Amino acid sequence: MQIIIFGAPGVGKGTQAKILSQKYNIKHISTGDILRESVARGTELGLAAKEVMNRGDLVSDTLMGGLVKETLSNMDYKKGFILDGFPRTIEQCNIMDSIFSDLGITNPFFIILEADFESIVNRLTQRRFCNKCETIVNLNDIPDANICPNCGAIGSFIERKDDNIEVVKKRLDIFEETTLPVINYYQKKYKVAVLNGTASVEKVTENILQNISKYFDE
Ligand SMILES: [Zn+2]
Repeated sequence: MQIIIFGAPGVGKGTQAKILSQKYNIKHISTGDILRESVARGTELGLAAKEVMNRGDLVSDTLMGGLVKETLSNMDYKKGFILDGFPRTIEQCNIMDSIFSDLGITNPFFIILEADFESIVNRLTQRRFCNKCETIVNLNDIPDANICPNCGAIGSFIERKDDNIEVVKKRLDIFEETTLPVINYYQKKYKVAVLNGTASVEKVTENILQNISKYFDE
C-alpha cells in the first residue's frame, strides 16, 4: 500500500498520515523527517542537503528527490508507506515518476485533502504552541483555551510566528500557484481521491479509509 498524501498547509495531512500509518502498520515519511534522518545518518546526499540548509537555501527538487529515493530504497517500501510533503511541484512530479518506475511502484494512491480558504486560515491562526511541553494544539479543538490538554500548564500557549494571518495567506497563495497543477498532473496518470479536509479529523479519516478500501479491493 503506497500512499501519497497531499494538501494545503493547515489541512491536517500530518495528523491523517499518522493515523493511517498506525492503522495499516506502514511507515509515515515526511520530507522533514527525510531531511533530518539523512543529515543525521551522514549519507552523501544528507551532507549535501545539510550544506544547502546551512547556507539558508532551499533544498533543490533534484536533491529532495534523491533523498526520497534513498529513504524508500533503505526500507521495505513494497510493504507500504505514506509519503507526506513530496511531490509539491511539477518538477518533483517528474522526479517522483522516475522513482516509482525505478523502484517498481506501479499503483500508488494519491489522497488530496482540499479545504476552503477560510477554514484553513481559521485553523492555522488558532494554532498554539505550549511553551512547557512543546505540544501543538488548536484552540478550536481543546476544551479550555488557557489550559494545555497535554501537560496541564495554564497560560502556556504562544503563537508561532509563521501562523499569523499574513504569513498564512502568503503560504496559501504559493500553494495555489505551485501545487494545483500537481493535482491535475496526477489526476491524469494515477488513482487520486480528492477529499474534503475541512471536516472533523474523525470524519476525514473515515472518508479516507472508505476510499482506500475501495481502491485496494478493486
Ligand atoms: Zn503543555
